[in-house]
Formats: sequence, structure tokens, C-alpha cells
Amino acid sequence: MNSKKILIVDDTSTNIDILLELIGKKYEILVALDGTSALEILDKEHIDLVLLDIMMPEMDGFEVCQHIRDNKKTKEIPIIFITAKSDEKTIEEAYAIGGSDYITKPFKPLELLARIKTQLKLRTLIENLEYIASYDAMTGIYNRRKFFEIAVEIFDTSKENLFAIMIDIDKFKNVNDTYGHPVGDLVIKNIATCIKGNLCKESVFGRVGGEEFAILCHKENQKEVKEKIELLRTQVELCETFTEDGTLVKCTISEGIAMANPQTKSLDALLKIADEALYTAKGDGRNKVIFR
Ligand SMILES: [Mg+2]
Repeated sequence: MNSKKILIVDDTSTNIDILLELIGKKYEILVALDGTSALEILDKEHIDLVLLDIMMPEMDGFEVCQHIRDNKKTKEIPIIFITAKSDEKTIEEAYAIGGSDYITKPFKPLELLARIKTQLKLRTLIENLEYIASYDAMTGIYNRRKFFEIAVEIFDTSKENLFAIMIDIDKFKNVNDTYGHPVGDLVIKNIATCIKGNLCKESVFGRVGGEEFAILCHKENQKEVKEKIELLRTQVELCETFTEDGTLVKCTISEGIAMANPQTKSLDALLKIADEALYTAKGDGRNKVIFR
């Protein structure tokens, strides 16, 4: 049994029975007899693929497809239309509205199975690529590209009580020069893990440079953000990395905080202020938090 979950949407129960007979042993199946309940299921469950009838009373398959594509949570789910309609115009519309594939009734069972398999495989491949494009391979946190993508969205949505923090590992070059790059990498990884473990899950945290990290978060007030960011500094101070021969390597971080205000033009402008604060922290002896 494949762990993938397929939703069958069809208003005719005999059609559902045929599909269940065919794919019920291979995949986990959920069933909806109309569009509204299909969308409810999609909202609650993690569905990997939808087999969608076109001709249904109330909401037809095209409309269901449109809703799936308009919803952030479901927009990437592969949809295969299965329908008795076989005219070119319907087929064209099915793809135009966001269908991934199209098959006409009566369908050939092996063909349908092959098409389902292809769509699932394609989706897995895309998900893997999206992961590689979004996460830093070394630390498992967001990479620079993804951090900015999410952070810009948050900045544009709400600047109120929004803070940006720039973090840099102090004298990191020394670590690489003294112990070699593999140990340096381990230090970056441990510090990233330490910071992540001390952040609330609403904070966006990414590796934006070699030994540079950035955070974007909403906090109640300046006092709260200062406490939180100071905590990161003290936690990193306790963070221990060992070389292969057991030598203890310890590093500290410097942090610069900037608070957005209605005049802050862009995320870049906010990060630049945080970066200036970070620079001040460095000049001021490092292992410090500076608020701008
Ligand atoms: Mg129908």
C-alpha cells in the first residue's frame, strides 16, 4: 500500500465504486460526492492527488478545481479530471483552469493508474526541488532566497511591532583558520540549531550569508524583543562544538536589532538598520546586542 492519499470526487456512486476497486488497494482513498464536501476534506486532510469529475450538480468540477488552485494550502495538488465529456473545448478548458491531466470515461484502468503514478511522481520531484531551493543544506534553516521571500511578504502585510535582527558569529574566520572548514561548518550548524531552538515558531529565521543569520519577528514591545534576542546571545555563549580530537570550540555572536515604523520603506531598509546596529556591536567589543 502506497502512503499517498487520493481524493475521489464524483456525484455518481457507481463511478466511485469502479475507482475504489481499481486504486483502493494501492492508495489511501477519500471520497466526496459533491464539490463542497470535497473542498471541506481538502481543507482538513493532506491530499496528494484529486480525481475530479466535471459534471456534477451545484458546483461542477471546473469550479472545484478553481477553488483548489485559489487556496494557498491546496494550489499545488495534482488534479486529474475524469469525465464522460470528450470534446476538445472541454479538454482545453480543463487544462486552462489548472487541471494536471485529463482522462475520459470509460477509461482504461492501466492507463489511469499510470497517469496517477506519473502525477504523484512529478509532485514529489517538485517538492524535493522546492526544498532544495528553500533550505540551507548545512543548517536546515531557510536559505537567503527563502528568507527574503517570506520576510518581504510579512513586511508588506504588517509593519506594526515588527523587528529585524541581524546576527553574525564573532571572529569566525579564526575558527576556520585554526581548526579547518569542517569544524567551522559544525560551529555554524550548532549555532543555527541553538538559535532556532530558542525562537518562537512565528519568527522567520534564515542563513543569509556564510556566518550570518537574520530573523524577522513580531513582538509585543521593544523590551520583549530585547530580552528574547539577549537570550539568544547567552544561549549561543553556552553552545559547545568539539573537534574530532575532542578540543572544545566556543563562539559568540553579535546581534543588531531594528524596529520597523510606518516610514520604513522596505525590508531591505529595515535590515540595513539592523546591520548597522550589528556593526556597532562588533566595534563595541562583540558578543553584544545593539538596538537601533
Ligand atoms: Mg458526474
